[in-house]
Amino acid sequence: MNPNLPMQMPRTQPFCIRISAGGLADADHARPGPIALWIKCPMPSPAKGPIRADRPRILLISSPDDPAAPPHDLAIDRPESVLIPGLVNAHTHLDLTALAPRPHDPALPGAFTNWADMIRRERPATHESIADSVRLGVRLGLAGGVVAVGDIAGAAGGRATLTALDTLAESPIHGICFTEFFGIGTRAGDAMDLLPALAERLGARPTGRLRPGLQPHAPYSVSRAVYERAARLAMEHGLPISTHLAETLEEGEFVAHATGAKRAFLEALGLWSDAELADLGRGEHPVEHLSPILGITPFLLAHLNDTDDAAIGTLARTGASVAYCPRASAYFGAPASLGPHRYREMLEAGVNVSLGTDSIVNLDTPDRISVLDDARLLVRRDGLDARTAFAMMTTRGAAALGLDPDAFRFRPGASPVGVAAVPVGGGNPDASVFKSDEAPEILLMRSDSCFCGAGPGTSNA
Ligand SMILES: [Zn+2]
Repeated sequence: MNPNLPMQMPRTQPFCIRISAGGLADADHARPGPIALWIKCPMPSPAKGPIRADRPRILLISSPDDPAAPPHDLAIDRPESVLIPGLVNAHTHLDLTALAPRPHDPALPGAFTNWADMIRRERPATHESIADSVRLGVRLGLAGGVVAVGDIAGAAGGRATLTALDTLAESPIHGICFTEFFGIGTRAGDAMDLLPALAERLGARPTGRLRPGLQPHAPYSVSRAVYERAARLAMEHGLPISTHLAETLEEGEFVAHATGAKRAFLEALGLWSDAELADLGRGEHPVEHLSPILGITPFLLAHLNDTDDAAIGTLARTGASVAYCPRASAYFGAPASLGPHRYREMLEAGVNVSLGTDSIVNLDTPDRISVLDDARLLVRRDGLDARTAFAMMTTRGAAALGLDPDAFRFRPGASPVGVAAVPVGGGNPDASVFKSDEAPEILLMRSDSCFCGAGPGTSNA
């Protein structure tokens, strides 16, 4: 039973909830309190946790004692908190949540390769353990105010699996679960053969709050020809598509020169084939390497730690969205090896830059998986302005996932996907949300779908 719901609920429809707080902030504005939202929805069903409702609609944003406000059936008061929209984590790996945060020293030789080996050895690989890990990830996401994700369902043991997709579809979370696959060198042919059936299977699934998508892993594990096939199949089956791109110095070396740790790794596993030299070792930047593919359909691209002006131009031209993962970049030492991330220049160039957490393994918050903590890092470290930080963790994340950005704004008429409260004590809403280390509490979650039709990979025709 939801402790927020009154014992005697009126039977008349619709239900009106008044949520009042000490302030309110989103991508468009910040308003000091006391302030309240009046939200109309069908009678919410009694359940544990946040109120869940179909098609909630914001009627009014005003002072809690506004005499012109509509009558409410339920009042939720958080006078010591700032209300924020539900958050979007545009890049995460919920199936790795069972691994928990791990220490990592990027300065050690072979650090990234050793880390990736650890993930391969220790990642959940059975149906039950993957489902348990995703369920834990959902709980930790909700504990961080996250209501929508771009989740990567990893290929444990090299085999694509739909377990994470099925598990997430049963959860209250919105967004996309991208099924990941590999296919390079001696395995490129297998991937080419298997991809049509995978895309058909994903494309045929019913979608509600969660859509299936495709995720070729990265340019050092997927041949360019396999990327091209995946992008065309994604278009054909209406699937969004995502990949990891320009994450490390080693990836850049592998693409430009076909040398280094990535090449050695593929050779050690018997995966390297000289046929790859048709597309690799030609001096190209990873974004340049994939630019013909990025032009087929808009991608959601994780990381982009390593970009030059030409790469940013390509991202803008192809309509790609970026999921920047600030804490993951810092954890792997990207600023030291590749320089500061150029997310602000990307935004200026018209690229949609959202925020992701990557997996819990690289986070410093064992009790939650939240892009709010990544936004706090950017505000504190880079002096990023609050409106841009809010947009990156709400409306821009929504756009990256094909969700309606208006569902992540506080405006009369909007249908919010989530309403959360950050307990901060008081003061300027923006300053207090980003100065605080407190976790948001989700008060309300929308239970119907909030896709707006167009999304990454749906169509750019
Ligand atoms: Zn990732």
